[in-house]
Amino acid sequence: MEFEAQRDGLIEELRLLGISECVLDAMRRVPRHLFVPESEWKYAYADYPLPIGWGQTISAPHMVAIMCDLLDIRDGMKTLEIGAGSGYHAAVMAMLAGSGHVYAVEVIEGLAEFARRNLKKAGITNVTVVSGDGSLGLPEYAPYDRINVACAAPDILDTLTDQLKSGGKLVIPVGRYFQELYLVTKVDGLKKEAKGGVVFVPLVGKKGFPA
Ligand code: SAH
Repeated sequence: MEFEAQRDGLIEELRLLGISECVLDAMRRVPRHLFVPESEWKYAYADYPLPIGWGQTISAPHMVAIMCDLLDIRDGMKTLEIGAGSGYHAAVMAMLAGSGHVYAVEVIEGLAEFARRNLKKAGITNVTVVSGDGSLGLPEYAPYDRINVACAAPDILDTLTDQLKSGGKLVIPVGRYFQELYLVTKVDGLKKEAKGGVVFVPLVGKKGFPA
């Protein structure tokens, strides 16, 4: 099938970036075209962001790959994503979590429904999309092994680090205009490592930027 060949091509491009085999394998198993509007299908396996409606975008595949590599999600883990958008990034996390689970919070109700529909089409059953303000995390199911933030926050939010297990990891873009991607590990306090400049839409909500 044409999409499969395109997806294999994308995976080879990502391999050249040094992405780990387990993340490449997870991405090979998620049909990205099912997470974008049909008008964008022809670009679904190109390595850039695409519009998904409501003024939002699905992240570029290399960004999903890099963030998943940093998070080091293992089988059985309970993970959280803030900013579900299309549900694609959560789907890749779900492949890595295997028998574990992904909770994905989305503040735009219409997009939360879009993500649920896409995940269903892709046959992914270990993701729960929750509508609401992810700047407060998702205390109902805390603590988490891993947290991925897919929008840019004003700071490394306490609301999120408080919901991490000991030994847990958080990946979060920080900044309004210039944004830095941070990997935060909860060991003897919080170990914070800057991983390079990125571009994300702002996190809104109570602990986010004003809308
Ligand atoms: N991970 C997505 C792309 C995310 S784009 C994907 O794979 O398609 C960033 C998303 O963060 C947008 O959908 C935006 O609505 C959402 N967002 C922004 N602030 C938020 C908040 N406070 N809580 C939850 N989602 C938020």
